[in-house]
Amino acid sequence: MRTILFRDDDTSFFTSPQRLQAVYAPLWAAGAPVCLAVIPAVAADTRVYWTAGNPHDPAIPPAYRGQQRRYPILDNPELCVFLNELAAAGLVEICLHGWAHSFFEFISQDRAYIAEMLDRGMALLERAFPAAPIRTFIPPYDRISPTALRELLRRGFHISTMSHNLAPLPELPQLAGFAAGAMNRRQQLFVCDDYLFSYQRDPAESLRRARMALAENALTIVSSHYWMFFHPWREQPNPRAIAAWNAFVGEALALPDSRITSFSAYAAQSHRSASQG
Ligand SMILES: [Zn+2]
Repeated sequence: MRTILFRDDDTSFFTSPQRLQAVYAPLWAAGAPVCLAVIPAVAADTRVYWTAGNPHDPAIPPAYRGQQRRYPILDNPELCVFLNELAAAGLVEICLHGWAHSFFEFISQDRAYIAEMLDRGMALLERAFPAAPIRTFIPPYDRISPTALRELLRRGFHISTMSHNLAPLPELPQLAGFAAGAMNRRQQLFVCDDYLFSYQRDPAESLRRARMALAENALTIVSSHYWMFFHPWREQPNPRAIAAWNAFVGEALALPDSRITSFSAYAAQSHRSASQG
């Protein structure tokens, strides 16, 4: 049995339901869930410090870039209604994606600061999405300190991140590539070392890599960003990018002996299997 998890990062105040639907409608029409990494209160002045010239985060629409303020997800009621309905239908898992999604926020070693951001982020998402239990954390930019990982463990979160964050915590399963493993009896770690669909790659290359990942792995985490299909904030998706994506989604849905699941559903099933075994 092959397992596929679809993960999308950067849903925020700036996300319209139409853009999510343009990418994920085929999965939802087939009853398949998507794990959405949701930013509680996105900061509009975030820059990407690992890219030359430190550009603004491409997930922020051009008209807002550089503003010294945060935009809470609750101020986009159309999006909240849309996602609550999907969550109630089991078609999205709402995952906590930092607090303001600033580049450095979760690499802090200050436990009190990490705890405050988690408290605030959870409080906002719980108000915005009463239909959605929030059980999974995805670090902004996949950058997270050992202190923050320990705090997430203490709080009971499942975690999806890249393998390079794991070495300082030898008590965690040292996974790499695409993999899931138990951190303890209740919490799962989901490692995803390649964003298969990325706007920096040609869509044909994204599709080739995604097909290969699906063929080679018992578990594949297909991570993407809905905004990349519109990059740079076009009204309509890039035709070649969305065609490659739709081809892959169609193939994933048609695979025999496979299941598309969410992080928390996968964790619940693993826990049940372990309890029975
Ligand atoms: Zn992100």
